[in-house]
Amino acid sequence: MYDYLIVGSGLFGATFAHLAAQRGFQCLVIEKRPHLGGNIYCECMEGINVHKYGAHIFHTNNKEVWDFVNRLVSFNRYTNCPVANYHGKLFNLPFNMNTFYQMWGVTTPEDAAAKIEEQKAEAIAKMKAEGVTEPRNLEEQGLCLVGKDIFEKLIKEYTEKQWERPCSELPAFIIKRLPVRLVYDNNYFNDAFQGIPIGGYNRLTEALMEGVECRTDTDFFRSEYRNWRRHARQLVYTGPLDEYFGFCLGKLDWRTVCFKTRIIDTPNYQGNAVVNYTSHEQPYTRVIEHKHFEMFGDAVYDLPKTIVSEEYSSPYKDGMEPFYPINDSRNDALAREYHLLAAKESGVTFGGRLAEYKYYDMAPVIEKVLNLFNTPAR
Ligand code: FAD
Ligand code: UDP
Repeated sequence: MYDYLIVGSGLFGATFAHLAAQRGFQCLVIEKRPHLGGNIYCECMEGINVHKYGAHIFHTNNKEVWDFVNRLVSFNRYTNCPVANYHGKLFNLPFNMNTFYQMWGVTTPEDAAAKIEEQKAEAIAKMKAEGVTEPRNLEEQGLCLVGKDIFEKLIKEYTEKQWERPCSELPAFIIKRLPVRLVYDNNYFNDAFQGIPIGGYNRLTEALMEGVECRTDTDFFRSEYRNWRRHARQLVYTGPLDEYFGFCLGKLDWRTVCFKTRIIDTPNYQGNAVVNYTSHEQPYTRVIEHKHFEMFGDAVYDLPKTIVSEEYSSPYKDGMEPFYPINDSRNDALAREYHLLAAKESGVTFGGRLAEYKYYDMAPVIEKVLNLFNTPAR
């Protein structure tokens, strides 16, 4: 009899198993995929760690979380500085003095601020005329944040490719977290701590799972563990929320991303880990060149080849990987109903991106598990 049966070996399940095992609890982790780690899993190709489920950059402001992961693995100095390609012209992201210079030729913060104000004026006047003070959708949010040129060249079509809906029908919060800076700073994140585990994310998973019993290729719903009370006192479930309840209230919607990954016979293909394609000209949203997450400067040329992945946003169908929850009113309401059912399940903890139907970055997932154990990370 285990103390905990943990369904899913992503960051939630693995961190939970680690902390429970540290406290002397017997845990079994079951994972339906053939490998551990959930979406942070990397596959090594040509000596390069390929982020199989999408580019993952660890970033946080929480020192406890940062100290916790750094006790398990060391992190490198990777700083995410994506570049946007709009019809062959390149712009730095997030929106900062470099972007404003590339867009308008302005060189001082004062000139950039004046240009943004001028660009925003039309949208603000239109909203005012309609008696609106807060942006009602992503289009208004984008126009009020950075004005017409940047909205049209760097936001509109990228967002439409990503969500397959017009910006005027998407919630404003999706781009609220995009920074706008009047300094020359291309760091995509504002957080104090950032990096990639040296040797790749699998090292982090291995460190979390050390000494923990686990079974891969084991689907909770299609295995003996479905009757989990025969095996364990408590269940930790990190799979999709609606699936746990047999979809009894209906199916939650997801978005997913698909990747076309190629080996290219050149040491350096695009000179950056992430290049966003912000027009409809390309069907993909971004191209990831994986070696740049872990190889810097001349080391890029130590390997003769490179691996790139084109990322395509796609609506979710059965059999695909559910990635992003869709926070529209139907899905939010349905998720709330499932959460009420979940609260009534005795002995079960629902946690993580799929079971909470909530978009989580990696660090908040770890923080959540640390808080469950009520441990300031030691
Ligand atoms: P997951 O990693 O999804 O793990 C859940 C696990 O449960 C999976 O392994 C799944 O196979 C398993 N499972 C599901 N159902 C069953 C079942 N029935 N039986 C057995 N096993 C089951 N975060 C960042 O901080 N920075 C980033 O740059 C970043 N980029 C991202 C890019 C993409 C494309 C995506 C999708 C996410 C990104 N994230 C990023 C978020 C990050 O992936 C999540 O925060 C993290 O993976 C959450 O861990 P989790 O354990 O909740 O979920
Ligand atoms: N976004 C954009 N242009 C870009 C990058 C992002 O318009 O070049 C918008 C887009 O709406 C996207 C949102 O910002 O959905 C959040 O993007 P981010 O890269 O932060 O999140 P991710 O796609 O990695 O979840």
